[in-house]
Amino acid sequence: MTNSPVVPEVDLWGSGRQVGHLRVPQSRDDSGWGTIQVPIVVVANGTGPTVLLTAGNHGDEYEGQVTLLDLARTLRPEEVQGRVILLPAMHYPACAAGKRLSPLDGRDFNRCFPGDPFGGFALSLAHFVDSVLLPICDYQMDLHSGGTGMDIVPSAVGHILDHAGMQARTLAMADAFGAPVTLLLKEVNAGPTLLAAAENRGIVALSSELGGGGRLSPAALTITKRGVRNVLRHAGVLEGLPEVGEYGPSRRMTVPDLAHYVFAPADGIWEAAHPLGHTVQADGPAGLLHRIEDPVAPPIALSYKATGLLWCVRHVGRVKAGDPVAVIARDM
Ligand SMILES: [Zn+2]
Repeated sequence: MTNSPVVPEVDLWGSGRQVGHLRVPQSRDDSGWGTIQVPIVVVANGTGPTVLLTAGNHGDEYEGQVTLLDLARTLRPEEVQGRVILLPAMHYPACAAGKRLSPLDGRDFNRCFPGDPFGGFALSLAHFVDSVLLPICDYQMDLHSGGTGMDIVPSAVGHILDHAGMQARTLAMADAFGAPVTLLLKEVNAGPTLLAAAENRGIVALSSELGGGGRLSPAALTITKRGVRNVLRHAGVLEGLPEVGEYGPSRRMTVPDLAHYVFAPADGIWEAAHPLGHTVQADGPAGLLHRIEDPVAPPIALSYKATGLLWCVRHVGRVKAGDPVAVIARDM
């Protein structure tokens, strides 16, 4: 039994296609018994594994949201063996606002796991996902993109795990998803993420980075739509084998440490030396940081500290001291 105050309008154990909301309490001055309605769709048939697909963990990342809306409309119960649970706009207030962080309290929803049933909207929703949805799942994929600030080579993202069997199952799921890149990393502050919550419950789980720049990329959307159906095929929920993209099998890469990041040492305007996806060299020029405070001083020249694929670039021109402006991935 859960002590969650979140009430699902759908029967998680029912068959067919069900469309409803998770009703999450959110008291306001003008509505003491107010709730926030988080859309949920369950498509289930027969017996088989359960796959939880989530998007809108961050509200300004759009490929996953549109892919799950498409799946919610088109996935037919009779083609499913098992259960697919869709949360296309999981952190609904941020999705409705088109923002990464919550307009309610400024929280990053992906730093709220495993949550707290009575900790307010974000923590109580995270607690429901962790304590009610994850325990009935076999596979979980949380769809992210680069958001407003970053642009990223479309990638499935997994953690470097201590358990060899779980690592192999994670890589097999990522191979099936079939993004141009599969990136494995030891994440900074991974503990409070949904991906870590799923791993802690022994579920085969992936995240992703599928574009960014605060826009919906048609190319990344194609990769995401194919990838999500590939995951359902890999799980055995849909018939058939995963489809390989026109770029071939996914390239396995890693960002092993912070030396693969370039950070801005001061506030300024970032002028990148290379486009996303370029192969770059250690000690080569990464770009120039322009300082409006001192018009006649030369810009600050930054260089890469690692050789590899320019996997992530700063999209927004204005940066603050400490912001990453580039991330390099290398082949595993
Ligand atoms: Zn995200």
